[in-house]
Amino acid sequence: TSVSLAQDALRAIRERDGEVGAFLRMEEALTEAAPQALHEASPLAGIPYALKDNLCVAGREMTCASKILKGYQPPHTATVVKKLQEVGATLLGALNMDEFAMGSSTENSAYQITRNPWDLTRVPGGSSGGAAAAVAAGFVPFALGSDTGGSIRQPAAFCGVVGLKPTYGRVSRFGLVAFASSLDQIGPLTRTVEDAAMVLQTIAGHDPLDATSANLPVPDYRAALTGEIKGLRVGIPQEYFGEGVEEGVSRAVNAAIEQLKALGATILPVSLPHTSYALAAYYILAPAEASSNLSRFDGVRYGYRADGIADLLDLYKKTRGEGFGKEVKRRILIGTYALSSGYYDAYYKRAQRVRTLIREDFLRTFANVDVLLSPTTPSTAFKLGEKTDDPLTMYLNDALTIPVNLAGLPAISVPCGLSDGLPVGLQFIGRMFDEETLLRVAHAYE
Ligand code: GLN
Repeated sequence: TSVSLAQDALRAIRERDGEVGAFLRMEEALTEAAPQALHEASPLAGIPYALKDNLCVAGREMTCASKILKGYQPPHTATVVKKLQEVGATLLGALNMDEFAMGSSTENSAYQITRNPWDLTRVPGGSSGGAAAAVAAGFVPFALGSDTGGSIRQPAAFCGVVGLKPTYGRVSRFGLVAFASSLDQIGPLTRTVEDAAMVLQTIAGHDPLDATSANLPVPDYRAALTGEIKGLRVGIPQEYFGEGVEEGVSRAVNAAIEQLKALGATILPVSLPHTSYALAAYYILAPAEASSNLSRFDGVRYGYRADGIADLLDLYKKTRGEGFGKEVKRRILIGTYALSSGYYDAYYKRAQRVRTLIREDFLRTFANVDVLLSPTTPSTAFKLGEKTDDPLTMYLNDALTIPVNLAGLPAISVPCGLSDGLPVGLQFIGRMFDEETLLRVAHAYE
């Protein structure tokens, strides 16, 4: 029953999450089984799951792993969570992440570190590191994360699970705490592609509460998993295989290419010439949007408020000074600078132009191919503490996932063997709103 499933999951979490550190908080009461009618209507009825801690559930604490939101209880429930409640899935708790989803290792959490279940001395990736670790450790069959520049796909790759970033607009962002609103998307982390298809089916669709959610019909994603990819044109962007990609990673990805050939896919070399500018554009645009989005955390309306305040300005300064961590402050400073008058044209506007060029690269290429294939990350999971003093090397880890967000495209990371005992991630990138082809090829490969 759904109750015993949840109890088993809770037992596993109690036993092993002490060393993994995926969960920030657990739900308490789990006594009611999902009604039979729900079981007949959805495969997710009674299935336990957990949420990255930037997704709102009314009346439950949600912190974005930041001190500034400590104790904050949102009054509203995210649309994706409502949809999961409606089909009778069982929420088990909230998962660790990099503070406000800024990071690639989950080491920027204000509360705890999360360890990679494959090797406890290594990071799980980030920012949805708690979600990837929870699925990899077998605590929950699925979790929801968010992906602004790779935060679902990169931790999925590091932890050997499936991570899907849907097309921008496919899934409602209502109730997701905004990091960079033009890039953020919610998506599932799962063990299999079929599970990802089932979760996407449930959370996708138009939502009047999110003006950027697309008013398009949601296809039957499970029906797309035919196992058949004969004649499918798979593009291999040469820029995604350049220096910086570890040998073990390219070896695993090349083996995957051979496997797709054997399944009847047509492999075509392609070029996305503006790829090398994506990281620089992202690290102007994402901080710019973040600096604006995070201005709402002022010590008045949400969570934490500093003590010993002299006046209003002092309230802002002290609360934000004490409440935000180092990486979040770095982003706010960069973003505020890039948007300030006199610098706006040189940085923000130019980065927007680069963003357009990157999107055009993809659109041009998709005239000739059906999906693109690349490694998800240049390396496998790195050691805890290895990159914490060097934000630039940390940022470089997202070089292969970020262009997708700039273009708004859907992409999935699936496990693709091991390198030195650690999971490698294989990324497929699809056309706008064509999650079906993406899921089909990933499923046929898996
Ligand atoms: N690691 C990237 C960053 O720090 C992406 C994060 C994300 O996708 N939320 O911005």
